[in-house]
Order: sequence, then C-alpha cells, then structure tokens
Amino acid sequence: MSQNATMNESVKNATTTPLLQAQDVRKSFGATEVISGIDLEVNQGETVVILGPSGSGKSTFLRCINLLEDLNGGRVLVDGADVGFEVRNGRLHELAENKIAQRRADIGMVFQQFNLFAHMTVLQNIIEAPVGVKREPRQEAIAHAKELLARVDLNGREGAYPRELSGGQQQRVAIARALAMRPKLMLFDEPTSALDPELVGEVLATMRSLASEGLTMVVVTHEISFAREAADRVVFMDGGVVIEEGPPEQVLGDPREDRTRSFLSRFL
Ligand code: ADP
Ligand code: MG
Repeated sequence: MSQNATMNESVKNATTTPLLQAQDVRKSFGATEVISGIDLEVNQGETVVILGPSGSGKSTFLRCINLLEDLNGGRVLVDGADVGFEVRNGRLHELAENKIAQRRADIGMVFQQFNLFAHMTVLQNIIEAPVGVKREPRQEAIAHAKELLARVDLNGREGAYPRELSGGQQQRVAIARALAMRPKLMLFDEPTSALDPELVGEVLATMRSLASEGLTMVVVTHEISFAREAADRVVFMDGGVVIEEGPPEQVLGDPREDRTRSFLSRFL
C-alpha cells in the first residue's frame, strides 16, 4: 500500500512538481505569530535568495522548511513528499519522528555558525553522517568527500583539523559536510555573517559555483551582490510574510513595495 503510494508520487514528480512547496506556513512562539502564512515554491535547480530585516522571520521560516520547528499551520513538501505528514488510507497522518528524520535528510542546512566537530579531521566531519546515519560504505563516503572538497576548493585538506583552517575554509567544509548527505535541497542561513569581511568572498564564490552547477538552494543573506548575480529569484520578507518576490533585477532594481525599497536603501 505505502509502496504504491510512493510509486504514484514518483510518477507524478517526474513531470513538473516544484522541488520545494511551502504552503501557507505558519509559526507562533507563544501568542506571537512570527510566520504568518508563507507560500514558496522552488523548482529543481533554482537558487532563491531571501532578504529581509533582522527579526522578520527568515531563520524561523528556514527552520520550518526542514521541520526543525513544529508548524502551527500549512505544509512543506520536498520532491512531492510531505516533510511532516503522510497519506494513509486516504487520511493525513503525522509522521513518526524517525520518518521525519528520513525526509529531513533530503534537506541540507548551512548555518551562520558552522559548528564543525573540533576533535575530528575535515574528512571525519564530512563522512560522519553518511557513514553513521545513512550507512553508506566507508570507502564510498571517503571518495565522495574528496570530490566534495574539490568542489568547495579545499582539495587535499581532508587531514586538517578545524582549528587549522580559516573561518571561510571551515564554512566551506560545513557546506561539503551538508552536501555529503546528497540532499535534494540546500538551505543557507546567513552563511557569511560570522566571517571576517576578507573571507566572505571565497564562501560566496563556492556558493555561486554550486548554484551554477544546478544545486537547488534557498539562501538567506544580506549579500545583495550575491543575490543580484546568483539568484534566479529574490524574495523579500518582513513581519513574517512575503512582501514581494521576483527576478533579482526587478526586486533589487525596481522594487514594487515601499518596504522593499526602504530596506534596500540601507545597502547603498
Ligand atoms: P530573522 O532570521 O529574520 O532575523 P528570526 O526568524 O530569527 O528572524 O525571528 C523572527 C521572530 O521570532 C523574532 O521576533 C524572534 O525574536 C522570534 N523568535 C525566533 N525564535 C524564537 C524562539 N525560539 N522563541 C521565541 N521567539 C522566537
Ligand atoms: Mg536569522
């Protein structure tokens, strides 16, 4: 029964289902609603940049996408599969935590604080989850890790410890670590905000090349130039809602909404 459901889903997905579908997502902390009905669709291979003032709910929204937060409303589907629920006997059931964890493995996340394991080498950091969680054969995981290190421009650094690397290098290892799980979707939450200014460029360059290789990415950042160059679409949010979205040249160059205009004027 559930096998049939999976087959039907994958047949459907082969057509045009967006990779990410967030539908009317709502999140409250106590009596305060901080995400007030956000819809966002991201197609396979697209890079979407989310901009917005501090406190507008950007991090919370990303955390809702991979269900690090319990939603107060709405749904999130990745590749057509609901991250938190499944249909059984025609009814919606909340998934058990272990199944949510499986679905969540489709989504990689990179944070402002990269939090590498300090006592592990770069290689051990990268293969930890694929070997420990996904039970990938160790030799396969190592070969993949080396490929990923080349992609983030850290060829040959697998034996280094985090303390031997700059912040920019550590963040690129964190990106490789997330990619090691072969996620369908990558979320970035202000990945360069904790870095010294001179290290920001190398991390953005890595992200730009991942975007051009066709990785599907949702990126929260204040780096307007990254949004202009790498985004297929820019979303501006404020007060827990999407104020406007569109191609970067439109949202950044000719915003429709006053709130977007006034936010962007801070970066001039
Ligand atoms: P942004 O990432 O855009 O700066 P956040 O998503 O971090 O915004 O926060 C949005 C709002 O939600 C803020 O008012 C913040 O104080 C509040 N908030 C975030 N996380 C929590 C939490 N765990 N408990 C209570 N309030 C929270
Ligand atoms: Mg934030």
